[in-house]
Amino acid sequence: MSESNPDQVSLATERPRLDADIVCVGFGPATAGFLSTLSKQLVHPDGTPAVESAVAPGLPPQVLCYERADDIGFGVSGVVTRARALRTSIPDIDRAGIPMAAPVGEEKVLYLLDPVGASRRSSLLRLADKFVHAFKWALPFEHDALNLPWTPGFLHKQGGMVLSMGQFMQWVGAQVQNTGTVQIWPGTPVSRALIEDNKVVGVRLLDQGVDKQGAPAGGFTPGMDIYAALTVVGDGPVGPVGQQLDEHFGLPENHHKRDWAVGMKFVVDLPEDTPLKPGTVLHTFGFPEPEIFGFLYVHPDRVASLGIFVPSWFDSPVRTTYRYLQHWMMHPYLWRFLKGGKLRSWGTKTLGESGRRGEPHLAGDGYARIGEGSGSTNVLTGSGVDEAWATGAQLAEAVLELLKAKKPFTKENLEATYAQRRRASWVEQEARAAERSRDGFQRGVVTGLIGMALAGLSGGRLVLPGKPLRPWERIPPLEDYFRGRIPPGEVRKIRDDCYARGVSAHAALMERAGWPAIRYDGQLLVSHQDALLVGGKVQAPHGYADHVAFVFPNECQRCGTKLCVEVCSGQAITPGENGVPNFDREKCVHCGACLWNCASASPENPERMAVAFRAGTGGLHSAEN
Ligand SMILES: Cc1cc2nc3c(=O)[nH]c(=O)nc-3n(C[C@H](O)[C@H](O)[C@H](O)COP(=O)(O)OP(=O)(O)OC[C@H]3O[C@@H](n4cnc5c(N)ncnc54)[C@H](O)[C@@H]3O)c2cc1C
Ligand code: SF4
Ligand code: SF4
Repeated sequence: MSESNPDQVSLATERPRLDADIVCVGFGPATAGFLSTLSKQLVHPDGTPAVESAVAPGLPPQVLCYERADDIGFGVSGVVTRARALRTSIPDIDRAGIPMAAPVGEEKVLYLLDPVGASRRSSLLRLADKFVHAFKWALPFEHDALNLPWTPGFLHKQGGMVLSMGQFMQWVGAQVQNTGTVQIWPGTPVSRALIEDNKVVGVRLLDQGVDKQGAPAGGFTPGMDIYAALTVVGDGPVGPVGQQLDEHFGLPENHHKRDWAVGMKFVVDLPEDTPLKPGTVLHTFGFPEPEIFGFLYVHPDRVASLGIFVPSWFDSPVRTTYRYLQHWMMHPYLWRFLKGGKLRSWGTKTLGESGRRGEPHLAGDGYARIGEGSGSTNVLTGSGVDEAWATGAQLAEAVLELLKAKKPFTKENLEATYAQRRRASWVEQEARAAERSRDGFQRGVVTGLIGMALAGLSGGRLVLPGKPLRPWERIPPLEDYFRGRIPPGEVRKIRDDCYARGVSAHAALMERAGWPAIRYDGQLLVSHQDALLVGGKVQAPHGYADHVAFVFPNECQRCGTKLCVEVCSGQAITPGENGVPNFDREKCVHCGACLWNCASASPENPERMAVAFRAGTGGLHSAEN
């Protein structure tokens, strides 16, 4: 690599050391499930330890959790969930008074037609659109949308809940810390796992007081080393510790992490006269591009969470989530509900969508993987929170069993307890059904939808095949993507003009291809920068290294597509000199989209890209997403 990894710079530094029994990386739903289950069983009702710490004899096990974001609940999700695992852990969840929670009410799946005429639709889809238009008098059709009269059961969330990830996580965090048996430290990114002889022995926290490259600068404070018998890795789909373990231990045979999506959402105050009731759940597909799925969930007090997912199989070199989200909101079916609304909050994050096929080794000597980074998210049912929580709770039960039996956290013991519980659970059963359910999308949207229906209805026995490609394999050059719509010479001129001004080219290219300019209203339709300031409240403390790095500048110089610039959710990556982009840490929302959206392979590993996404501080400051 041409640029040094900050970790390597300071490897030789003498570091403070802390010993614990269990250390957790990240506080998302997976770790919340783990700590919720564990924390309640570490002490007896009289306060005496139910199991004893190895590092502080006479006390219960010392459990620490480090979260990267500046506070608990700054994560991003939908969320509608069946809440099966959540209800098992929190039986009175419906009456717990969690802010923004509502029971699931009316559910609709809508096929959105293209009222703009700019969407890239296959001839098959155009035929389907013509059919819908011709028979709209006989169909449940309104405002350019077809309300699917029947949807398979696997898509439903009846009996479930609409939640705000931020509010739920703050609530759970308080419950967990109130037990007094667990400490959660936000604003404290874990830089890496400490690995000795293929055994994970703990984690290293991020260095402070360093320059952009990670070299010690004024006020240098080396990150502490936390040694623990068990490291629980729940750092999500793009977590640096998960990435490190994938590299070090490899993935099981035939497993890969090639499917992903960028999810972006707004939290909106709906107009006062909104007809939408709390608990309403709308799911959409078909617009602004056929590949893009959308969601709108209604919380109490006229607040809605709404957004889109831009999936890996949308082969566009300008797949900007923010711009597409605005076009989606303005679809006539949705705009009649949203017009007059006001942006409260904004957030974005990537989802690991390889599911069971992206599952890493679930456990090894001294460590276990839980949550989305461990392949728990189910793409067939569109559910990740409940699954992540369930895997955390399963690990907690396994850990308690091992602690009580005084058995060490070896690979063998963790597999016999944690992995076995997971294999025997509904998480595994449903993950198997979902495993190849979306392969059809590799060959087109219609094939994908049929494949999903087949897999869902047959429990995964029937699927339409398709080969997931590595992210960099599927990005066509800009000229090819716009062929037939914009002459190649003009595509290059638009791109070069934009890059000379230091801005991305997607807006100019999309508008030239027929997408209308967005007329900002200062309330809901706001510029990307305003969304960062008003909705995301993005912040980054000083004295940390850049966590996004262009580690193979030669690849960037050769790269004509600059997908990282086009897709960046925070406009933190901009065109740079000599073809190597610039990164502005203060605008980064840590969504991880750049890790997937790179048009070049890493020369060292074809499963990875030419950009590095490492541990970092700051990001979104909103607990509503
Ligand atoms: C827009 C959007 C909508 C969604 N909608 C739904 C929905 O409706 N229903 C549903 O069930 N699922 C939904 N999901 C998916 C769901 O949010 C995820 O599956 C779920 O959050 C995974 O939980 P997790 O704990 O495994 O990981 P995460 O939620 O990603 O949590 C990982 C945590 O680790 C932290 N972390 C990362 N790196 C480090 C580090 N180095 N040091 C310390 N901490 C670190 C992160 O900050 C984060 O808090 C949605 C996702 C998105 C983005
Ligand atoms: S990071 Fe990837 S997409 Fe961005 S310029 Fe470099 S090679 Fe191109
Ligand atoms: S630079 Fe930051 S905001 Fe931009 S895509 Fe990467 S992680 Fe997301």
